[in-house]
Amino acid sequence: MTTARFADGRAAGKRALVTGAARGIGRATAELLACEGAQVALSDIDEPVVRQSAEEIAATVPGTKVLSLGHDVTDPDAWRSVLDRATDAMGGLDILINNAGAAHLRSIEEEDLKGWQWVQRVNAESVFLGCHLALPYLKASPPAAIVNVSSSAAYVARANLAAYNAAKSAVFMLTKSIAVHCARAGYDVRCNSVHPGYIRTRILDPIYERAGDEGAAEAAILREIPLRQLGTPEQVAEAILFMASDASAYITGAELKVDGGTTAV
Ligand code: NAD
Repeated sequence: MTTARFADGRAAGKRALVTGAARGIGRATAELLACEGAQVALSDIDEPVVRQSAEEIAATVPGTKVLSLGHDVTDPDAWRSVLDRATDAMGGLDILINNAGAAHLRSIEEEDLKGWQWVQRVNAESVFLGCHLALPYLKASPPAAIVNVSSSAAYVARANLAAYNAAKSAVFMLTKSIAVHCARAGYDVRCNSVHPGYIRTRILDPIYERAGDEGAAEAAILREIPLRQLGTPEQVAEAILFMASDASAYITGAELKVDGGTTAV
């Protein structure tokens, strides 16, 4: 595991909740946080897989508290239950990583109201719910941090990402509003966003499926990336850890792009 070689307690003593942690970026983030000394609650709508991921992380980092929770991030009652259970088990909450997300490829003409609402709920409303409902716990555990996983899609429009572009842009600005509110209210709670570009996870499957030819799809993606390679979940996890840890104590309301230069051109 690439994360373990960097382990030097960068999240020691922290208690973190990571949503969408069954696989991909969420799982890599939960594993890195655990390797760096945090207790971690992994939540995901895919309960069997998140349980397995938590078990594997617990085996990798013996002695660390790692729990798994079934959680649909679009459901306010599920959020209340997850926050109750996670804070009971860990004794509080210092870090919230709003990572769960999903996408489909639809232009404004292909999208319908139901599809639009689903994308907004999973990607944007979920972040509102998480921040709104977790804030009482985070305020009680200063210094605390929220990291919202947005996307390069908050900056760069694609014809077939109408709803996702809009949702990830909402996360970008919601993050800043929360940061300013918490700072002005005197809470020691920072809020920042991380913006992955093309990262090799299941969320990219529809792009490959639509193209039919995997090689051609990959070549087209690589042409958009100045570094000419897809990112890995572990690379994004490093950026999330930085924004979540005390290493970024003077950073709030900011965004960190992890996209191989995609949004620089
Ligand atoms: P992924 O599909 O591997 O992981 C997403 C996880 O979210 C899955 O485990 C899934 O079960 C979970 N999830 C989906 N809907 C949920 C719900 N309603 N409630 C709870 N969990 C739910 O994809 P990923 O790339 O790891 O995505 C993580 C985040 O990164 C997402 O917010 C995504 O939009 C963002 N992102 C990814 C990329 C990329 O290229 N991979 C690029 C930009 C942004």
